[in-house]
Amino acid sequence: MIRMEEVTKHYGNTVAVDGLSIEVTDGEVCVLIGPSGCGKTTTLRMINRLVEPSEGRILINGENTRSKPPELLRRTIGYAIQNVGLFPHMTVEQNIAVVPSILGWDRSRITNRVHELLLLVGLDPDVYTHKYPLQLSGGEAQRVGVARALAADPPILLMDEPFGAVDPLTRERLQQQFLSIQTELRKTVVLVTHDLDEAVRLADRVAVMRQGRLVQFDTPENLLASPNDAFVRSFVGADRALKRISRIPVTSLMKPVPALVREGDTLSQDVSQVPRYAWVVDTSGRLIGWLDTQQSRTADAVYEIDASQMEYLTVPDSASAREALSHMLGQGVRSIPVIDASRHLLGEITLRDIEEVTAE
Ligand code: ADP
Repeated sequence: MIRMEEVTKHYGNTVAVDGLSIEVTDGEVCVLIGPSGCGKTTTLRMINRLVEPSEGRILINGENTRSKPPELLRRTIGYAIQNVGLFPHMTVEQNIAVVPSILGWDRSRITNRVHELLLLVGLDPDVYTHKYPLQLSGGEAQRVGVARALAADPPILLMDEPFGAVDPLTRERLQQQFLSIQTELRKTVVLVTHDLDEAVRLADRVAVMRQGRLVQFDTPENLLASPNDAFVRSFVGADRALKRISRIPVTSLMKPVPALVREGDTLSQDVSQVPRYAWVVDTSGRLIGWLDTQQSRTADAVYEIDASQMEYLTVPDSASAREALSHMLGQGVRSIPVIDASRHLLGEITLRDIEEVTAE
């Protein structure tokens, strides 16, 4: 656990961080966000003592960070920054191995660890181990930066705009990958960003800062649903309802489909009581198509859905309500079925379900 108590940092007359108290629990992703110059980077760097606080204390697992030499402290804290800061004259392997080498790991343990980390960040070790930073794309370099920060398996990871210097598509992939790595490793992460979408996507809790102070520290859901004050409200912006639903999984809003027919069966409900279209599933519950209930009530009249149609006529159970909404808007439909990876029909989500949560 990281605990900052009334931490202040002055630079001459500038107060970069002003009486900040915050607690980040183990395994949590805490995202620091706020306008440029509000003190995010300074806060992050005080945690690993790249910057020393002017006042206040920082405790890690109850121990004051001042009680340890900074070099020792930093071995337990991974640090990844924008533009990575890879050493240009070292190979990918040597870059990742910096901290393990300092720790005196033997050669084979380092080689294995580098191999494992490259796989973890989605880079083929046979291709990348011996490359130099100049031979990497921005996204690849960023991945190596994350691998390096994780090299000695530190319990804490500090990340300063780690996905800031890449194009939007690569950024989204890196964020996705970060989330899956984090699900596996459960590091305690403090991440600085100026991108609210990134904060909403990655954070367990978001710390909004203004002029060196903490103005709200909350889950993305609460931050978007109930901003503390006018500043936070304007910061999270007019489209906060859309951002909010990107955090809501379709599975939490879906309901049973109103009309369902099994293969070989006939619609049991009265046609006037069901929507015009009923979904048809096979005997094990996999979606195979739909039925126009005004034409026929038997599953034999099914309009089958082929693999390519499946992608846009349904949403996967891993999708967010926001993805479901854009599917529905794209198709011009008011509801859409939710399926699992084996095409089992789990339920459906409607525009009304989404309207209800955004109106709350
Ligand atoms: P952010 O990361 O939110 O953009 P910073 O933490 O970098 O903000 O900076 C907070 C404030 O402290 C800014 O006004 C900045 O100019 C000032 N500052 C940061 N680092 C230094 C420094 N090394 N010397 C003087 N002023 C600094």
